[in-house]
Amino acid sequence: MRLIIGLETHLQLRSKSKLFCSCPTDKYLEAPPNSLVCPVCSGQPGSKPRGINEEALRNALRIAVALNCKIRAGEPVYFQRKNYFYPDLPSGYQRTSTPVGVGGELAGVRIRDVHIEEDPGRYDLRSGRVDYNRSGIPLIEVVTEPDIKSPEQARQYLEELQGVLNYLNAAREEPGSERVDANLSYEGHSRIEVKNINSFKGVFTALTYEAARQKTLVEKGIEFVQETRHFDEAQGTTLGLRKKETVSDYRYFPDPDVPPLVISGKMVEEMRKGIPELPAAKRKRLVKQYGLAEQDAFAISLEPEFVDAFEHVAKEVEARKAAFFMLGVLRKQLNYRGLRLKNSEILPRHVVELVKMVSAGEVTDKVAEQMLVVFLDKGIPADIRRHAQEAGLLGVKAGKELEDAVEKAVKENEKAVKDYLGGNEKALHFLAGRIMALTKGRAAPEEVHRLLKKKLGK
Ligand code: ADP
Ligand code: MG
Ligand code: ZN
Repeated sequence: MRLIIGLETHLQLRSKSKLFCSCPTDKYLEAPPNSLVCPVCSGQPGSKPRGINEEALRNALRIAVALNCKIRAGEPVYFQRKNYFYPDLPSGYQRTSTPVGVGGELAGVRIRDVHIEEDPGRYDLRSGRVDYNRSGIPLIEVVTEPDIKSPEQARQYLEELQGVLNYLNAAREEPGSERVDANLSYEGHSRIEVKNINSFKGVFTALTYEAARQKTLVEKGIEFVQETRHFDEAQGTTLGLRKKETVSDYRYFPDPDVPPLVISGKMVEEMRKGIPELPAAKRKRLVKQYGLAEQDAFAISLEPEFVDAFEHVAKEVEARKAAFFMLGVLRKQLNYRGLRLKNSEILPRHVVELVKMVSAGEVTDKVAEQMLVVFLDKGIPADIRRHAQEAGLLGVKAGKELEDAVEKAVKENEKAVKDYLGGNEKALHFLAGRIMALTKGRAAPEEVHRLLKKKLGK
């Protein structure tokens, strides 16, 4: 049975004010409810939208161009009224444009169209309260063709999309700024649309659940109708919502208050020139220029600041060692704190110092990680090497401290010694572990093994 998936991704566009009014968008989540509203974005009778927000339009075009869409310069883009009734929509219609770009491609998935919309407000079902601070914030919707064949491929597409967005600085970043409607069907059966998945992560969960649910129904021969379902993030499940709307339910018509928009060829050209080297190109270059494995190049390529830092570091230390440290220890510690590199205090030169010290055998990987933890949580010392020296972190390569530790570990663990001498290799690892603990992770593992074997006469 062939699985067919198409995604509609809504992204809030960066802009200081809303799409058709001058209400500010900054910190709209934190602002008191309904404090960032005016007659236009709260849908009051008689209010008239002002001209489209230029910043939002430019950011939408920037995304469309980066997704390899064709822009129909010179042809009018219309804003239509999409009519539906729900408390989050004060005017009873959502303004949504005809495509600004069509026929794009990303990660092997065709992009059908890209258009601009207004975000609705937020309606809290439980309390019945509405907050129109979000109402009128500009959105771009990116619609794929039904080219995606598995939840895993959907995840890859969204990962690539996120990567591209990281470079463009055209979309907002706060939680809930990316929302996905996921369409899914088994070939020859009804299509289900799972609405309003509020994060890219949720898409994989929702699709996996929904695919399994539909598969079971199909296999049991139970027919089901085309419908819209709601993703329950906490449960990782989907719930029946309503029969799917069709285009005619929405009674689309051009908004008489908004003049059609004509995008000039000059503007498109300007946008094209402003697109930086994107992840796919970056990763090709990283493989070629630094001899990185594809997978490492991919992981580095998704954040521009990560690539920049890597290229800085790779000038001074071996590229593979730089990648190993940055994708291992550094990524892990950043993720653990929910940080992106650009939001941390870590600079390329700090990474250079740590990788150099590890390469020179001055500190072990473990200690370099401990140092990084200190940098992230307590701040970065002016002189990293001196700090390591003063904190007694520099490696115990040989000498009395290491010999004492070997002596002590052997004396305190008679059973392990006996096991090892009896042929149990695991016991040696255990003893080595004791020595690492005694030296607080500062001893080089190979040296510990060598000394242990010598001591035990093997
Ligand atoms: P609608 O107008 O009902 O929203 P569209 O044809 O505009 O439907 O498609 C919306 C999304 O659904 C697109 O992303 C498209 O790729 C996807 N889609 C279309 N047909 C199917 C299908 N049979 N199975 C899964 N997804 C589909
Ligand atoms: Mg749709
Ligand atoms: Zn307003």
